[in-house]
Amino acid sequence: MLQHDRVVHHPLGGASYYFKESLLKYVNAQCSRPAVVLHVGAQPNCTPHIGNITTIATCFALGAALQTRFARNVRVKFVFVDSAPSPGHEIVINGVKYQRSLKQMGTLEEYKPAFIHVLDRLSELSGVPYETATQSFWRANPAFPNVIRSLVARHETLGARLSPETGRLAIRVPCPHEGCGLADKHGLNNEYHSDDRIAFICPEHGEHHISLMAPHEVERLEFNTPLRNLIRILLCSLDTDTSWIMCTGSDYAGFYQEQLTWRLLEQPATAPVIFYTPLILDWSGAKLSKGLYVKEDGYKYLVDAGHRYLLDGEVFLQTRDGLEALFKEVQDWVDKPYKLFRNYSLEYLEMQLVARGMGEHEWEEDK
Ligand SMILES: [Zn+2]
Repeated sequence: MLQHDRVVHHPLGGASYYFKESLLKYVNAQCSRPAVVLHVGAQPNCTPHIGNITTIATCFALGAALQTRFARNVRVKFVFVDSAPSPGHEIVINGVKYQRSLKQMGTLEEYKPAFIHVLDRLSELSGVPYETATQSFWRANPAFPNVIRSLVARHETLGARLSPETGRLAIRVPCPHEGCGLADKHGLNNEYHSDDRIAFICPEHGEHHISLMAPHEVERLEFNTPLRNLIRILLCSLDTDTSWIMCTGSDYAGFYQEQLTWRLLEQPATAPVIFYTPLILDWSGAKLSKGLYVKEDGYKYLVDAGHRYLLDGEVFLQTRDGLEALFKEVQDWVDKPYKLFRNYSLEYLEMQLVARGMGEHEWEEDK
């Protein structure tokens, strides 16, 4: 292996060049409404890993900075993506992919406590209050039915924009037949009727409908990630009391957001700020994937070498002062844009956590 000199360079480029000293002031100025809510979410299909925890911690660090430096009324809103597919419950029938969601399978309840544990401790460290919600939070928004109707009215053009692989708008509703709950993941067989009804097909129980004029039926809708993101951004744009800041991993920056969000907005100036958090990368520069680790025994070398805590949030939380060290580290990123608009390797993160007081080797027994 190539040895390195442990010297960190901090090249300025892009946003880090233009927001050298002024990032927080700029973000604060973008939040012109009385309250500030920092949104962060996760698909609760496993316990949180170091990547999720880093994103959540950065969100709390930004909240703390806005609260203490600008005396803003800030809180964090953690929203579980319970409409995401439940692992192992995706099936293909006649070339169409069907899923059962985390909500259908009760998976949310299994992993929720681990996320709450992380949120409780970060809230305590940052002094920023938080609340949690599921996707029904967005569906219960009074503007939701109108936003959906306006998007469905454009389903042909938006389908091609938001689902470039299928060209169809990925709207789904779990089959209402008792014990079924299958949903056409990509909305391939949906039919959009002129009377504001959408017909969905279950491979086992046939057609079922919802009417976009009936709010309690609209509440059953689920969406793929780009469509959900667009709906969320539109709802936050319409909120006159609260300025929203959407915190997300920086793998959603760039081409994804430009093509699947910004160019589709009619009024980008009212849209929330999207605040991208650094990714934690493996030796090759790929972001850590807990899914990969769970399913395929990936990163066995890390576990064998006693570094399981870098993959498994539950183990990380058992390290002495690990979360405290991570919070100090991410506060530094929020303070210094040259440390924010970039990603970090596992090796570097570990070095920083140890330097910031994380107890060493407490995770060894987990080998
Ligand atoms: Zn069914």
